[in-house]
Amino acid sequence: MGKRMVVVGGVAGGTSAAAKAKRENPELEVVVYEKGAWVSYGACGLPYVLSGEIPRLERLVARTPEEFRKQGVEVHTQHEVVDVDPESHTLTVFDHREGRTFQDRYDYLVLATGARPLIPSLPGTEQEGVFTLRSMEDGEKLLQALPRAKRAAILGAGYIGLEVAEAFRKRGLEVTLLEAKDRPLPHWDEEVGHLLEQELERHGVEVWTGVRVEAFRGQGRVEAVETSEGVVEADLVLLATGIRPNTALAQAMGVALGPTGAIATDPRMRTNLEGVYAAGDVAESFHRVLKRPYWLPLGDVANKHGRTAGTVIAGKEAHFPGVVGTAIFKAFSLAVATTGLSLEAALKEGFPARKVFIQSRDGAHYYPGSEPLWVELVYEEPSGRLLGGAVVAKGHGALRVDALAALLHQGGSLEDLLALDLAYAPPFSPVWDPLLIAAQQAK
Ligand code: FAD
Ligand code: NAD
Repeated sequence: MGKRMVVVGGVAGGTSAAAKAKRENPELEVVVYEKGAWVSYGACGLPYVLSGEIPRLERLVARTPEEFRKQGVEVHTQHEVVDVDPESHTLTVFDHREGRTFQDRYDYLVLATGARPLIPSLPGTEQEGVFTLRSMEDGEKLLQALPRAKRAAILGAGYIGLEVAEAFRKRGLEVTLLEAKDRPLPHWDEEVGHLLEQELERHGVEVWTGVRVEAFRGQGRVEAVETSEGVVEADLVLLATGIRPNTALAQAMGVALGPTGAIATDPRMRTNLEGVYAAGDVAESFHRVLKRPYWLPLGDVANKHGRTAGTVIAGKEAHFPGVVGTAIFKAFSLAVATTGLSLEAALKEGFPARKVFIQSRDGAHYYPGSEPLWVELVYEEPSGRLLGGAVVAKGHGALRVDALAALLHQGGSLEDLLALDLAYAPPFSPVWDPLLIAAQQAK
């Protein structure tokens, strides 16, 4: 009889692990339990369904349970794993549809339980009209509410707040973005935050920074947000104030967490318990610049974690090499891409760090339609080792950050960056690429 692999959680990390394991070792029995109604979807596309650019939520689905079944992977939606006994390798599953509990067993278990929104404990959050955005179910609720909504308040100017501010404006809503820190995207350095603030205001988003939200007013349906700076009228509130890994099941069964609060794994995505793996937003990664565990809850990372776990469970060699912390997002016409450490983070970590921040263009100055582009480089002195960087551009020019990410991955320096043979033609870059201009200035 083939060995049995059970996966808990059916989005990015879980389904990647399941599909890869079955492909690599067709003898394996592979079962996925997902407590929600949807599996294998790109949550990253949710803001673009809200904006109307993507017409239906279904478009975000990569594979349906039926498609998995055809590939020999059993997928059970609305099935929640409520308990695991690692001694006997058994699990207890609650079937929400039938309202019954049953037992299953595993030889290999993958915990891919993801993350959940962090909900601030403020009076009035339980009212109608207050939303979070994490899952397809959250997307469905927001899509239902949007046609009636006129004024939105978004708490948090992080990734979700910034992407959804654009979506809500595209749907014709008035939008106020309320950020506790002194700028949008506060985890990065201030120049990028200021560019974002200008872009948001240019597109009619009111940005309130350094604001303390105190309560949500309303009689069962939200009407306004009370803050330290005044009252914001709102018939729709989105809480986009960060996320936390779903580790309750892992902790209850004795899986060790790492210093970040997510599940500790080795490069093969194994946990401290025999036969138990973790993948996706519930698991830590190794940070190659910081040289320690780091929590990077992103979709591409979740897919790679899952693929690694699936390959290893199938009996083949794979390891996850770690992250440098690369991310990109769009706010109206600006694309913001960051990798590695901001100067603030680098200094906090004790690196003797400096930065340069330059403005250049995404094409030759004489090429029609070329637009401004900004580069930040963070580096160590006196070695010149690169620690991080950002590229802000009107469009795909921001993907230059990938060259920085590749250098960071290898421990590269300003000298290594200056030595790169980068692409050049007038529609795409000045003759000196903006990355090279920044590196020269840093030197
Ligand atoms: P999750 O997506 O959280 O899935 C975990 C699943 O496990 C859930 O469906 C949950 O119901 C299920 N589960 C939990 N406990 C149990 C249990 N006990 N039994 C059964 N099932 C259980 N990342 C990027 O890289 N780029 C982007 O542009 C990007 N944009 C995003 C935009 C939005 C709006 C959001 C919300 C996220 C975005 N992300 C992006 C992040 C990305 O979506 C996540 O990193 C990814 O979804 C993580 O996948 P996961 O499988 O680890 O976790
Ligand atoms: P986030 O951590 O990016 O941002 C949260 C923001 O909320 C921070 O700026 C924080 O200062 C602010 N905040 C916290 N408490 C607040 C309060 N009480 N009042 C006002 N502001 C407050 O988290 P998020 O935007 O919720 O996104 C969650 C995760 O989703 C991200 O960590 C990321 O992993 C993922 N995501 C990624 C992308 C992308 O890569 N393009 C896009 C969307 C989401």
